[in-house]
Amino acid sequence: MKMLPLMVNTQEFGAVVIGHDDSARRKLQALLRVNAQVAVASEQPFCHKLRELVHQHQLSEVSVQEALQHKDRFPLVVIAEGDLEWQREQAIKLKAEGRLVNVAEHAELSNATLAYLIDRHPVMISVASTGEAPVLTRILKARLEAWIPQSYGRLSHLVAGWGDRVKTLFPNKKHRERFWSQQLQGAAGELMIAGREQQAEQLLENNLEVIEADQLQGEVYLVGAGPGDPELLTLRAVRLIQQADVVLYDRLVAPEIVDLCRSDAERIYVGKARSDHAVPQGEINQLLVDLALQGKRVLRLKGGDPFIFGRGGEEIDKLSQNKIPFQVVPGITAAAGCAAYAGIPLTHRDYAQSVRFVTGHLKDGTTNLPWAELASSAQTVVFYMGLVGLPEIARQLVAHGRAGDTPVALIQQGTTRNQRNIVATLDTIVEHIADKKLEPPTLIIVGEVVSLHEKLNWFDPEQAGGSHGFWARQGEESE
Ligand code: SAH
Repeated sequence: MKMLPLMVNTQEFGAVVIGHDDSARRKLQALLRVNAQVAVASEQPFCHKLRELVHQHQLSEVSVQEALQHKDRFPLVVIAEGDLEWQREQAIKLKAEGRLVNVAEHAELSNATLAYLIDRHPVMISVASTGEAPVLTRILKARLEAWIPQSYGRLSHLVAGWGDRVKTLFPNKKHRERFWSQQLQGAAGELMIAGREQQAEQLLENNLEVIEADQLQGEVYLVGAGPGDPELLTLRAVRLIQQADVVLYDRLVAPEIVDLCRSDAERIYVGKARSDHAVPQGEINQLLVDLALQGKRVLRLKGGDPFIFGRGGEEIDKLSQNKIPFQVVPGITAAAGCAAYAGIPLTHRDYAQSVRFVTGHLKDGTTNLPWAELASSAQTVVFYMGLVGLPEIARQLVAHGRAGDTPVALIQQGTTRNQRNIVATLDTIVEHIADKKLEPPTLIIVGEVVSLHEKLNWFDPEQAGGSHGFWARQGEESE
């Protein structure tokens, strides 16, 4: 069946719903949501909820005969009662008169469908199915609703205000469309969606000036990719991932997340492992600047949250020095992700009133961490990059007074199908992992809250759909 998605002005188009029960009520609600001029008719008394709706909206009631006969008043007829034979007969007659007919649950008798409307004025999106799978339509509608920012329509203000100048600059329609496509999906569009209208206008002004000087400025998105499971990405992260021209990612970004990039986007691996510094930090910072200066939308994807042991601050510092527009999208940091997927609440009224995120990356086998503070009880301490230093960490904590039987969890590749949880105590953890081949990244959680793991553990990596885990590479991970 081929359908034409057609938008109809509901103020100038009359509809009638024939029915008395819940099915009629649902149809009526769909029409009322778009302020349709709608009347109701039935051979039977209305059910309670339908009656309420009719009363609340003061809808006019007509007889079924009137509904069927008044061609000019009701060009759209929704039939939600009667037996199949009667419905078929009426549908044939109505269609022969050139009217639109929708028979509830009988797409084969209908020549019209009531679509869901996603309203992002002035953009309207309709989602409909040919009738076989209304649930799919509902699911997709809900996804799109969540996906497309409420303020998406604001982008039209941007176009309206600058139309003439852009027309002069790009007399060729194709070039003009390309310009708008870049702007609306770029930093100016982002600012507009975020409600920062003045800055958006200012940026557009700058961009126009630059183009007038024959050069287009790019921008950088510093995006937290979370701990692994792609479903833990924020909506904003996904949107930016899908619009970037080039992506720089490292080892702690799950491959499934890099796969969300546009297929024509350039991918640059700047991976890092303790023994494998693919691209030094200074070069990454410079690369971001260079690519943005070429007019590209550059995505810098970082594992977890970019501002937690991520050196995100250094990267954007360089951008700011070079006056390159950027934005930062937070991600779920490894501590939050691993703890949730291991059933370990990081704080708990009975066990821990605070939590600390600490780097366990030791220089020359030692570290100047504030051991006495970390050893005090009733707090949770999470060590990032702690695997190599674990013997020293456990030793120091006990030496500074933390009980040797304090529970410790070591979580490998948290939130992925490769997740593994090893639970022991400060006294026994080193011995526990001695014969185990662990695959980085790993996170260490120390504190009484770890004892809750046994009861609250819910995540089954074997059943998980999200990520298969991280790229296999030699060596312990580092910042
Ligand atoms: N910015 C990141 C942390 C980067 S430091 C964040 O916010 O999560 C790298 C360390 O993070 C690794 O050594 C490891 O300790 C930890 N880590 C990151 N992802 C992890 C994961 N999926 N499972 C376990 N640990 C992880």
